[in-house]
Amino acid sequence: MPITDPLKKQIAQKARLHMKVCFNCGARNSIAATRCRKCHNGYLRLKNRNLGIKK
Ligand SMILES: [Zn+2]
Repeated sequence: MPITDPLKKQIAQKARLHMKVCFNCGARNSIAATRCRKCHNGYLRLKNRNLGIKK
């Protein structure tokens, strides 16, 4: 089902991609997180990619 509303698509992509991922266990954390919620590892990478850009 294609998303026709570009604003909704933007929101959905932000919700899916703007997060942090733990290097240690791979858990998803909030964008504001400084440590992993599962293993309390401080080594988080930002998952902030631009996927699915179509014209
Ligand atoms: Zn972790």
